[in-house]
Amino acid sequence: MIAKNIENIKGELPENVVLVAVSKTKPIEDLKIAFDTGQRVFGENKVQEMVSKSELLSKEIQWHFIGHLQRNKVKSIAPFVSLIHGVESLRLLKEINKQAAKNNRTIDILLQFYIADEESKFGLSLEEASGIIESDAYKELQNICIRGVMGMATFTSNQEKIRNEFKTLNNIHMSLKNDFFSREDSFDVISMGMSGDYKVAIDEGSNMIRIGSTIFGARN
Ligand SMILES: *Cc1c(COP(=O)(O)O)cnc(C)c1O
Repeated sequence: MIAKNIENIKGELPENVVLVAVSKTKPIEDLKIAFDTGQRVFGENKVQEMVSKSELLSKEIQWHFIGHLQRNKVKSIAPFVSLIHGVESLRLLKEINKQAAKNNRTIDILLQFYIADEESKFGLSLEEASGIIESDAYKELQNICIRGVMGMATFTSNQEKIRNEFKTLNNIHMSLKNDFFSREDSFDVISMGMSGDYKVAIDEGSNMIRIGSTIFGARN
């Protein structure tokens, strides 16, 4: 099933859209099946789980951290993480920068925005993000690269509401691009869309979707 699911999703993805296979809670065997279909980008939301899986699987895998990252855990993923999706504070950016420097590398990150109307979801406002980017402290961070934006829509069956939230994130990306990153081609990622809403997300400009249950089946 896993291989078939990936094939089905990829069959209908526009070429510019990256598929992140969200493998949280799933056993190594499931990730191997996905890997064998050619899937190389995997998303995890727990530090320890991502570290253990990365030790057991191919070094070709690009590991994306998609959860809420605590500062004291950045150290564990800094040597190998490929993209951190959910950054929403200057303090966390500083810590990622520090650990990236220790590992002699630059770590790519996405700023997470609050586009839903659910209190359980995290994220910055456009004003808060602008404040961070304009700060002197941010300008000193040489070992991080802000690659774009990430957000989660409200969990609802109201498609228009979801569509509007994704539009908002696309507008935030455009606005930050114009104001701060107009000369940086690397500021090009809009990470939005999960199993239930990725088609709408792509319609609204997503170029990175994070798909778990549609690939691996429901989580417990
Ligand atoms: C779990 C998770 C996903 C995948 O969710 P599905 O609905 O199973 O596709 C995507 N993004 C984030 C941030 C997640 O935590």
